[in-house]
Amino acid sequence: MNFDRSGVNALMEITNRPELVFVRGQGSWLEDHNGKRYLDFIQGWAVNCLGHCPPSVVAAMAEQSTRLINPSPAFYNQPSMDLARRLTSVSCFDRVFFANSGAEANEGAIKLARKWGRLHRGGAYKIITFDHGFHGRTLATMSASGKPGWDKLFAPQVDGFPKADLNDLDSVRALVDEQTVAIMLEPVQGEAGVIPATDDFLRALRKLADERGLLLIVDEVQTGMGRTGKLFAYEHAGIVPDIVTLGKGIGAGVPLAALCARESVSCFQPGDQGGTYNGNPLMTAAGVAVFDALTAPGFLASVQARGRQLSEGLLALSAKWGMKGERGMGLLRALMLDRDDGPAIVDAGRDMAPEGLLLNSPRPNLLRFMPALNVTADEVDLMLKRLDEVVGKVRG
Ligand code: PLP
Repeated sequence: MNFDRSGVNALMEITNRPELVFVRGQGSWLEDHNGKRYLDFIQGWAVNCLGHCPPSVVAAMAEQSTRLINPSPAFYNQPSMDLARRLTSVSCFDRVFFANSGAEANEGAIKLARKWGRLHRGGAYKIITFDHGFHGRTLATMSASGKPGWDKLFAPQVDGFPKADLNDLDSVRALVDEQTVAIMLEPVQGEAGVIPATDDFLRALRKLADERGLLLIVDEVQTGMGRTGKLFAYEHAGIVPDIVTLGKGIGAGVPLAALCARESVSCFQPGDQGGTYNGNPLMTAAGVAVFDALTAPGFLASVQARGRQLSEGLLALSAKWGMKGERGMGLLRALMLDRDDGPAIVDAGRDMAPEGLLLNSPRPNLLRFMPALNVTADEVDLMLKRLDEVVGKVRG
């Protein structure tokens, strides 16, 4: 059965979409317009941390939507305060600004660091970021990103984001000057192909930042909210950042993000930062339900267990097919292929019958896995079995 294509050309073409429309989802499964089911290990790009349509989030939003959707960010609303309090109670942060996307949270982090630099560091404004890093698609966050080609795409870039190499402290040290105010990085470079910053590197960055009076900004848009098996990935290294940004999993699929900062850095004054949707009770009520699920006893332990299961299964697949191993943290993992057939595997997985498999290939020689954090052991096994079949099909 075909779908109504009359609206296709009314959409701006920002990506190449396959010829299917998803009509419903539950947990780790999506269903298209023909009723075909797909085992989803993309989950909206690591967004649906509780799977599709998690009942507790659906209920929280349904309940909130009948009471109050948006009184304006100029007034207090209870869910935003409840979520902010939850976030500060489990982290080293004292203040939260809610945003609507990861890029917007990062944009806020950049503004906060620049304001802090103006107040406390004589106007220092440069933020050292990293080659192959990804921080979003606004002009400033694209400039902060180290994605090849992005420096020219919408030139001129926003000034002040010199690039260092991940896990190379000397490359960071070499860039620090009088105008440097912060260092900003992802604990695991997600879009670059799931490349973790080492614990030693993160600790050395914290030390360098302390020595030189710089802020350490950790972009946990992809790694935060339990994705790596801890609530925040920076906890693995035992460091305390000055600013952290959250997105994706914090709303389990709805537009919610957060900029979290320590008191000493929280220097926004009225008028510096805002937005009409920011911290609205509908999204933050969803965030409260998500937070309570992620912090329920045993939840993060099960993320760690599923992460180990996925890692072991991918390693076995890699050995069977002569691939180059796997890497990642918790339920953010990558299988390193021995050739550039990632896109072909993704297409073949999606087109499998009677049930499809949804995977992501951020680079041609790599597959990335971002399942729901409550994915079951059976679903991980099923994905590994189907992936083995797909690789066999693609490689003849
Ligand atoms: N930062 C990181 C580390 C990301 O992975 C992403 C999205 O993939 C972003 C920022 C941007 O988030 P959003 O797409 O919600 O703007």
